[in-house]
Amino acid sequence: MIYKDNISITYPWQAQVWQHVNQNDKRMPHALLLHGRAGIGKYDFARYFSQSLLCANKSEAGHACGVCSSCSWFNDESHPDFRLLSPEQESETEGEDAPAKKTKKKTQISVAQIRDLSSFLSLTSHRSGGLRVILVHPAEALNLASANALLKMLEEPAEGVIFILVAHQLQRLLPTIISRCQKVNMPIPNETQALAWLGEQGVQNAKVQLAYLDGSPIKVFSEQLQFTQLNEIWRLLAQGSKLQPHIAAPALIANSVETGIVVLQKWMYDIVAMRLTKQIRYHATHIGALQALAEKVNLSGLFQLQKKLDELRKLALHPLNHELQMESLLLEYTRIFMSK
Ligand SMILES: [Zn+2]
Repeated sequence: MIYKDNISITYPWQAQVWQHVNQNDKRMPHALLLHGRAGIGKYDFARYFSQSLLCANKSEAGHACGVCSSCSWFNDESHPDFRLLSPEQESETEGEDAPAKKTKKKTQISVAQIRDLSSFLSLTSHRSGGLRVILVHPAEALNLASANALLKMLEEPAEGVIFILVAHQLQRLLPTIISRCQKVNMPIPNETQALAWLGEQGVQNAKVQLAYLDGSPIKVFSEQLQFTQLNEIWRLLAQGSKLQPHIAAPALIANSVETGIVVLQKWMYDIVAMRLTKQIRYHATHIGALQALAEKVNLSGLFQLQKKLDELRKLALHPLNHELQMESLLLEYTRIFMSK
């Protein structure tokens, strides 16, 4: 989220969609579904829109004032007329009960979380004539039971309640949920917009990082530290058959096994791309190294390793010995190159 003089504002590429959602001020739909790919600022937008809906003193263009009591409550995460439903929220409360062992990160919004809303829905707003807002993020974290429970609430909308659903993958939602919401297609920043914004945030070498992180300026901004580590990892991967798994494995899993797997997947994607099309997608600063690897790679061996990585990524949360697991993957990596 961006703050200017204590007032949060939307991202530059969201100016039009901001106008769009503020047009129906008097006749707000009772459910909005903000959808679009990951990393374009949908959630920040949804939060800020929630704040502005609750603000007692919003501007003509719909912006929250940032200073009224409603805005202060909102910024303190204590607004009585606002609820956020997300998988993380549940794992935090459970974490207190089990401090010794790190609780597994929840990936679903449970039916209990939806049922907890009924008391919230049966109350009226804490401010006369005010709205109440429920933000669901990400909506694809609803399982069948919780989606059906939510559907009932959407079918019989409570007075003055607005649901805002945020989804990266529309196809994973129940069609009946989608049909109850006004869909808002969230804009993807083009490269110029993304680079301009990253420049304003003081990010160096933004262009390379933007290509690596699928054109998402938000990811580039939030992963600044990781990028220095990545340069070291790429230097190691460039060694191909000479890479030493026990040295590279700890670096790859420093953040999480999943991050390490994604780093390998993108690197191998570019080896294939270089071999087959002479073009790369993610590693503009490592063309030379990728070219050398592409000449020596055994493609069928590489495809097998890719398949394995895809499978492992789905299981990345399971409690194997991560370092050993990564070492054995890297050992396979060294074997997909023909040594000359
Ligand atoms: Zn305000």
